[in-house]
Amino acid sequence: MSSDFISREARRPCWYCQHYGGLLANGINARCNKPGAAPVVAQPAHGCAHWTREPGGDDEIWSPLYSPPLA
Ligand code: SF4
Repeated sequence: MSSDFISREARRPCWYCQHYGGLLANGINARCNKPGAAPVVAQPAHGCAHWTREPGGDDEIWSPLYSPPLA
């Protein structure tokens, strides 16, 4: 088992989840599109118990928190 696999399994941020709807408030919050869930999530880097992997969403390790600003 590679360390890359472990890091993907250990970290479940909202942006690898199929319900992720984008960041709000400069990354402090995220929008959650899961039916019945609160639409705004605090600490999106930590996800939640309803995290559901978006197939392919974590093929590359990335974070919207560290993306370069849009021009
Ligand atoms: S709050 Fe939970 S269900 Fe919603 S996007 Fe984040 S991890 Fe997914």
